[in-house]
Amino acid sequence: MEDVLDNHERIALQFSGGKDSLALLHLMRPFWDRLTVYWLDTGDAFPETEALVEEVAAMVPNFQRIQGRQPETIELFGIPSDLVPVHSTPIGVIARRGGTLIQDRYSCCMRSLMLPMHERMQADGITLVVRGQKNTDPLRAPVESGHVEDGIEYQFPLQDWSDEDVLRFLAEEGVEIPRFYQTLHSSPDCKTCSAYWEEGRAPYLKEHHPEAYEEYQRRLNTISDATAEAIQHFNREIS
Ligand code: SF4
Repeated sequence: MEDVLDNHERIALQFSGGKDSLALLHLMRPFWDRLTVYWLDTGDAFPETEALVEEVAAMVPNFQRIQGRQPETIELFGIPSDLVPVHSTPIGVIARRGGTLIQDRYSCCMRSLMLPMHERMQADGITLVVRGQKNTDPLRAPVESGHVEDGIEYQFPLQDWSDEDVLRFLAEEGVEIPRFYQTLHSSPDCKTCSAYWEEGRAPYLKEHHPEAYEEYQRRLNTISDATAEAIQHFNREIS
């Protein structure tokens, strides 16, 4: 890793607040003075993530906060969902002269989180991004460690680690694992996200964030109403 770092002057460690980026942060401790830790505030972050980020910001020599665009994205493109009925797309809403705008979750993440992060990397002249991506992650960027794009090299030091490796490393380092992992497999980016249903966030929200739980359920009900017609037609057609 040191050889790679030697080739760059402006290095970013992208910190999400999840267990992988936490492990990466501690793994990279010998190089903290040579890199900047960036955290993207979605605009709807969990307070427990914000508290962890405050600790990290006070611990590392160089820290930058990036403002994400989740509330504005939802205002413009609709709530995110794992199912998007045609009548809830921008053209569908115009054609029906009304209805609820819904966007797919990946577009929402791209608009709210990934683009603002990438824009900031470019604005700050970053040429090396270090990220806690692992090959065992079900959702990850479709590139390997060492990939170069738009003048930025990407390195994933945890690429060959398993979840167990990460948890073991954090335990050895004496680092507290975020509370999310007591019930969830990941550290969610947005409190009121109405997508990524496979994460099973409802019980966590209900126990720890009742107001966010209410909003989550309200958005899920909106999605349920908007998808009902298409699901009814689909069920009639499938044999
Ligand atoms: S986590 Fe959910 S709400 Fe947040 S940006 Fe991604 S899809 Fe949108």
